[in-house]
Amino acid sequence: MAGRKGKLAVISGPSGVGKSTLCREAVVRANAFLSVSCTTRKPGNAETNGKDYWFITPEEFEKRIAEHGFIEYANVYGHYYGTPRQPVEDALTAGRAVILEIDVQGGLQVKQQYPEALMIFIMPPSPEELLRRLEGRRRGEDDASKKRRLDAAQREIEIARQRYDHLVVNDRLERAIDEVVQLIQL
Ligand code: 5GP
Repeated sequence: MAGRKGKLAVISGPSGVGKSTLCREAVVRANAFLSVSCTTRKPGNAETNGKDYWFITPEEFEKRIAEHGFIEYANVYGHYYGTPRQPVEDALTAGRAVILEIDVQGGLQVKQQYPEALMIFIMPPSPEELLRRLEGRRRGEDDASKKRRLDAAQREIEIARQRYDHLVVNDRLERAIDEVVQLIQL
């Protein structure tokens, strides 16, 4: 349908809450476009350039900021993360739903530019469960770093309660995916 733009959905949530798996499945089922962010952090072992992220240098990142190449960007744990503008605009213009898996600071920047954006926050079933998932995820991480992630998660949850449209509890993955897909397809 010419002229009909796709829906833009922002999906945020604390690290360890399972949002990557959830987003990947939701994208397939909703036939949506998943935005690949740029980052200046180093790739992890199982990560692929162009699939998980575009891994670029701080210089390249700053050049793209100056060229207004990002819809939003943020500094998370000392590294830049940003959403490239052009692929998102192209997909929306083609009428596809677009999912941005980004943090809360970035999500709020997107909302300012795209007031119609659907804001979804993935919640852990409980604070205890979040702690358990954070611990399971990064073996060998020190206590200070763990505490920093937990504090950041609590701050994000507070902001999301006030500013996001939907809080989806990831109690069971299948159920949570269904809920997200339904929201996107509404
Ligand atoms: P990680 O390094 O664990 O992959 O991601 C760290 C945090 O950065 C996560 O909360 C993730 O959602 C967020 N993030 C990933 N890409 C972007 C982006 O393009 N923009 C913003 N603002 N946050 C991002």
